Amino acid sequence: MILYNDLFLKKEEVHISHEDRGYYFGDGVYEVFRIYNGQLFEKEKHFQRLQRSCEQIKLKLPSSVQDIDLKLSQLIQKSFVQEGTLYLQITRGVAQRSHLFPKNPIPTLLAYCNEVKRPLDKMKSGIKAITQEDIRWLRCDIKSLNLLPNTLAKQNAVEQNADETIFHRNGIITECSSSNIMIVQDGEILTHPANHLILEGVTRSVVLKIAAEEGFTIREKAFDKETLKNADEVFITGTTVEITPIINIDHHNIANGLPGTVTKKLQQLFEKIVPE
Ligand code: PMP
Repeated sequence: MILYNDLFLKKEEVHISHEDRGYYFGDGVYEVFRIYNGQLFEKEKHFQRLQRSCEQIKLKLPSSVQDIDLKLSQLIQKSFVQEGTLYLQITRGVAQRSHLFPKNPIPTLLAYCNEVKRPLDKMKSGIKAITQEDIRWLRCDIKSLNLLPNTLAKQNAVEQNADETIFHRNGIITECSSSNIMIVQDGEILTHPANHLILEGVTRSVVLKIAAEEGFTIREKAFDKETLKNADEVFITGTTVEITPIINIDHHNIANGLPGTVTKKLQQLFEKIVPE
């Protein structure tokens, strides 16, 4: 079942115009929500980020957030998904190809659900990562459809027998191809500040909140590649990866090469807020 603008359609019934600006220019924004127990997790945070992304690219939402929220609930029900993800994208709609915005654009909204299991094995064992120069633009805070550097980076990781690519700008760690990154150093949690160089992840916010409530010291401060590799613990956060330990970077183990105690504690705390 696909939500296409106002309509619930079968996959075969969705026909996107070749003149959609999402197709020509990547002119649009998106969100990936987690569905736990048939409900959207932290949906207010996702809607806030969606609204902000839209504002930043001067795109008007096709309807109110309340209306979109209602439609998404109906979509989940019609799709019978209990555990999975919901993908939502909005583009600047259909117009003859021109860099200039169309006069009165009618945005195209597309959303659908996928059944996706939680990555419990990787959350337990940890994953390997590689590092790479962050070649993205300087507005990584906008969740735009332009993901070519991210897809190249992910492909590169898998070709090198790793799961994720960690980006750095001139040696300063920003985030990963599709997740945020945090390290633990002397008991403190460090992560890049939420500015134009990273996407402010919903999971990042949730993890920082539960970590603060537990009494951990959090420093939203940039750190370099050497600090990363010498960290006591490294983990990534994201809607689909939740909190996943990174145990090896560029073929070097992090600490003893096993998920760390702070990471495991945060996973336990996160588990408490995941609806059964
Ligand atoms: N950074 C990037 C580049 C991402 O693509 C994602 C996943 N959407 C994240 C961080 C994590 O964000 P969230 O926790 O909202 O999924």
